[in-house]
Amino acid sequence: MQLSPYDSEHFLEIREGVRRLCAEFPGEYWRELDVRREYPTAFVKALTDAGYLSVLIPEEYGGAGMNVSQYIKTIHTISYAMPAFRSIISINIGMFASALKNGGTEAQQNEWWPRIAGGEIACFGLTEPGSGSDSAGLQTTATQTDNGWVLSGTKRYITNSPFAKVGLIMARTSKENLPKNSHVSAFVVPFDAPGISIGKSDKKMGQSGSHIADIVMDDVRVGGEALLGGELGKGFAYAMMSLDNGRMSVGAAATAYARRALDSAVRYATERKAFGEPIANFQLIQQMLAQSEIDIYAAECMMDDVTRRADAGENVLRKAAAFKVFASEMCGRVVDACVQVYGGAGYLAEYDAERFFRDARIYRIYEGTTQILQLQIAKHMLREFAAAN
Ligand SMILES: Cc1cc2nc3c(=O)[nH]c(=O)nc-3n(C[C@H](O)[C@H](O)[C@H](O)COP(=O)(O)OP(=O)(O)OC[C@H]3O[C@@H](n4cnc5c(N)ncnc54)[C@H](O)[C@@H]3O)c2cc1C
Repeated sequence: MQLSPYDSEHFLEIREGVRRLCAEFPGEYWRELDVRREYPTAFVKALTDAGYLSVLIPEEYGGAGMNVSQYIKTIHTISYAMPAFRSIISINIGMFASALKNGGTEAQQNEWWPRIAGGEIACFGLTEPGSGSDSAGLQTTATQTDNGWVLSGTKRYITNSPFAKVGLIMARTSKENLPKNSHVSAFVVPFDAPGISIGKSDKKMGQSGSHIADIVMDDVRVGGEALLGGELGKGFAYAMMSLDNGRMSVGAAATAYARRALDSAVRYATERKAFGEPIANFQLIQQMLAQSEIDIYAAECMMDDVTRRADAGENVLRKAAAFKVFASEMCGRVVDACVQVYGGAGYLAEYDAERFFRDARIYRIYEGTTQILQLQIAKHMLREFAAAN
């Protein structure tokens, strides 16, 4: 096989290992987890034991040291099998571990990378009851003391928080809103710190194997070393850098899940008969299958392009947002077509199409809604135009 510059033989082995491991967990396993809203303990353990929970962490810290393209392809492989696990792993390594890479001190990296590589779970706390899209409007405070910081506030909808050992918590270190959102700093907060409590897991529409809950911080005391990178006022910038990574991950997940839904629709269309023949023979069914294929192919091309650019050191803020918007909206169209191909069966919980439809809906909401990312893309285009004219 011809290897691209980003596809070392070792990486292809890892990706094939991930694919084989995913295949060991049959559809029935995921269906039951969905019904029971259970955390996929056995799957997470199998991936951790095989070393796949640490793919972005540098090799010297016990990880696989993947670049962005390789990481996102791995996420794509996992998401085809299990989108809820994509959320778990993407927050753990794509958001938390990568924030340490972008801005962590050596001590923070030494402490947490080996622990994350060893299977400990992390979370990323930006959203609050009063601020989601308007994330810089957060109200959690971090007040400096003689020997560290005191954090108070509530974080909402935080993925992994019920199982997390640590969280990257964005908090306000100035009462005023400062230019470039420098009133926000990021803190690495161990969850055994007194004053932290985690709410009940919220009941969600889909991806029930991935759990979200509130984090309530009531005068949580952490040492000075908890400040990410030891730098005041950089929390928002680091959160946004992690979100570039997160958006490529959501785009890859949506692309993979659309492919899964289309594969399922193609199989069903060849098996189900109406008017004495397989429904796949009808051109209006073929139109839905063909349009889905066209959509997925476009997203796959975007995925390859944006990840290569990221690895080349380009600022991919706008392109990662574009990929996330296109892939998540496209996935919505494809899972909808999949339900349509299944007909009445597509509306029943017993069939996969119904679960695909529910699982896919979140991709258009978290890590930047479609509307917020459209605004962001337009803002950068207009700024660039103004600078050039
Ligand atoms: C399953 C799940 C997991 C999550 N995991 C995490 C996590 O791990 N960490 C974390 O920090 N957060 C997490 N979130 C939060 C998620 O990122 C937010 O829900 C999301 O950013 C939207 O914020 P919001 O819910 O407050 O919606 P709002 O900001 O209230 O938006 C509501 C609607 O208004 C629109 N809107 C808002 N402002 C504008 C505007 N200026 N112009 C046009 N339209 C606008 C939005 O697009 C949306 O349609 C998670 C959420 C869910 C549901």
